[in-house]
Amino acid sequence: MEGLTFMANKPQALSSSTTTIHHPYQAPDGFASTQVPVHKGSTVIFPNIAAMRERQWLDKSSYTYGLHGTPTTFTLEERLASLEGGTHCILTPSGLAAIAQVDLALLKTGDEVLIPDNAYAPNQSLASSELKNFGITHQRYHPLDLNDLAQRINSKTRLVWLEAAGSVTMEFPDLVAQVALCKSRGVLCALDNTWGAGLAFNAFDLTPGQGSEPLGVDLTIQALTKYPSGGGDVLMGSIVTRDETLARTIKLSHMRLGTGVGANDVETLLRSLPTLEMRYTTQDKNARQLARWCESQSVFAQVLHPALEKSQGHMHWHKLCVNEKYPDGLSAGIFSVVVDNRFSLARVDAFCDALRIFKIGYSWGGPMSLVVPYQTNHIRTLSTSHLQGATVVRFCIGLEDVVDLVADIEQALSRTLV
Ligand SMILES: *Cc1c(COP(=O)(O)O)cnc(C)c1O
Repeated sequence: MEGLTFMANKPQALSSSTTTIHHPYQAPDGFASTQVPVHKGSTVIFPNIAAMRERQWLDKSSYTYGLHGTPTTFTLEERLASLEGGTHCILTPSGLAAIAQVDLALLKTGDEVLIPDNAYAPNQSLASSELKNFGITHQRYHPLDLNDLAQRINSKTRLVWLEAAGSVTMEFPDLVAQVALCKSRGVLCALDNTWGAGLAFNAFDLTPGQGSEPLGVDLTIQALTKYPSGGGDVLMGSIVTRDETLARTIKLSHMRLGTGVGANDVETLLRSLPTLEMRYTTQDKNARQLARWCESQSVFAQVLHPALEKSQGHMHWHKLCVNEKYPDGLSAGIFSVVVDNRFSLARVDAFCDALRIFKIGYSWGGPMSLVVPYQTNHIRTLSTSHLQGATVVRFCIGLEDVVDLVADIEQALSRTLV
């Protein structure tokens, strides 16, 4: 009861302008609500200077300043760390900010970072602009060719980014082999775990039950903006690791960069997390049903979805994402179709415009289905012969009735791609 102590120590008549701020009322201890309260605050008051000097913010045992954590942010961090199978979590204002935070904390002039050719594109743009200006080089590697990655790792390589499945073209890499390779060559590996959301597989234990020392990535990032939020209403990112030293390095850098998150956004995430698995599995089921239907349409030369047998890297997906709990495996509710080359880009654009339920827009994981066309020769630099420079259309499946979604694609096809 800090307010009462204040009054008791300094008995004096306070003006009403002061008592509206220094009021002794505190929520009673017995109010044990199931939901985490939203603790907002920049300043955290110390009882005296000695306590201020002693307080440690790094170990989460106490609070120092809003930017370094509140009971609300610590709760979300702990829940995300356990969701992904890690032990430490750091929150950032967006998924991209989490990528940038990892790069800035771990790379220095003269280092090199390797990024898969099918990575989330801003990861590559950050490397080819800011990182390049800092004297940090990067190379893109072929996500499905382990030898290509092995050959690119050199004495300058400090960090390898991994992504499973890859953005837009959805190839699923041999993550277990990639991580084993990075470990054997002594380079750090960071996984963009947005697609798996901590549900499809455990990034920190990729070969469960085999061997006493689990084989896992050094750290993950997630765009909480996607599935964990699930509402299309919050931008946030996370970094998770099991490594004490890495966690400390990143936390110190995070503190210096000052990229904290807002309490209301954290609260939205805390409300969404309990329904994450339910939403993920429903969106997966609907997306697969739609993807299989697309396979039966001749205008689509290929359907890029890691759970479909013909998709690139399907066996790697099968090895990692099929388990006892989910015998049909788990997959994010997102896939792309390769439009037959006989249709021009303008016709593909017209198809997207003709959709009524699918809306045109970026991001995914929310309740509304979305569509974006991509020209593969604009987003890929290494050889992708299976795509043949075609235009792909990416569908992100929301929570609408799948019957309505099929009907929507059907009506748009009949008006444009015939
Ligand atoms: C969306 C996304 C990001 C970035 O997340 P933001 O919160 O939008 O910055 C990073 N990686 C992947 C794979 C994504 O899909």
